[in-house]
Amino acid sequence: SVPASIASAMSSGARRGLLMKGGAVIEAAAKVDVVTFDKTGTLTHGRPQVTDVVPFGATTEAELLAVAAGVETGSSHPLAIAILNKAKDAGITALSSQDAKALMGKGVVATVDGAPAWVASPRYAMEHGGLDGLGLRQATAFEEDGKTAVAVFREKTPLGLIAMRDEPRADAKDAVRQLTAMGVTAVILTGDNPRTAAAIAGNLGLKFEADMMPEDKLAYIREIGTQGGVMMIGDGINDAPALKQASVGVAMGSGTDVALETADAAILRDRVTDVPATIRLSRAAMANIR
Ligand code: ADP
Ligand code: MG
Repeated sequence: SVPASIASAMSSGARRGLLMKGGAVIEAAAKVDVVTFDKTGTLTHGRPQVTDVVPFGATTEAELLAVAAGVETGSSHPLAIAILNKAKDAGITALSSQDAKALMGKGVVATVDGAPAWVASPRYAMEHGGLDGLGLRQATAFEEDGKTAVAVFREKTPLGLIAMRDEPRADAKDAVRQLTAMGVTAVILTGDNPRTAAAIAGNLGLKFEADMMPEDKLAYIREIGTQGGVMMIGDGINDAPALKQASVGVAMGSGTDVALETADAAILRDRVTDVPATIRLSRAAMANIR
């Protein structure tokens, strides 16, 4: 039978929107040494907004957005939604596209007007000859400002850059401060680049690992898991393997419905401070058993 203190921790958690799937989750959460956050949708709102549209050469702003929106049609990635919303607000119709394919952690490619077109990270664009030195410098400047920039290119021709900002949640800084005070190390694991990650991590006061593909997040969690308890907070959109690998996988944010199946716990009210609250509640429940 479940000890009374665990049952009561589960029900008091549930009352405030912290769902924990069983006593074993409480036990594991009490032993967490490191909390890893997937940045988008957990520490941030996960609803980036387009801040800058920068066409190159003869490309117009309208053409840049029409191609980008065409490539992103059908993608549910937060950056895709930002681009589609921007095009819609500007009254621009997305070009029709076929065979869209997500390049996990890198971008999207689709056929537009019979030729391949990409919306992808500047790094990926560089590797594929779709961004020159000036374009890279512009992208870097956006990133140092805490924005995420994507490059749009058709075949090898760069059409321009689109920059987006995803605001941190209001309580993210307080949550990090609480975790640190509890002796828990907090770290951002993100597929975003090191400059954007550094700007956001510096603002919130935690460590970061950038340029992480989903498999890198998995490997990181496996590695630190050999030294102690690891809690992973993810929106679950492409982090299901990392959530599963962590000693406690917690779903939070827009992807909660999907992630709930893989996760051990879920934070339903989008409060980052519910992360330290979960650990605190679990520690208290375990202390009452001993
Ligand atoms: P995070 O770890 O922050 O959730 P992702 O792994 O989802 O990041 O994406 C990492 C990077 O890959 C993004 O910053 C972006 O440069 C690129 N990317 C991924 N998906 C898309 C997309 N649909 N459109 C444009 N760029 C994308
Ligand atoms: Mg993601």
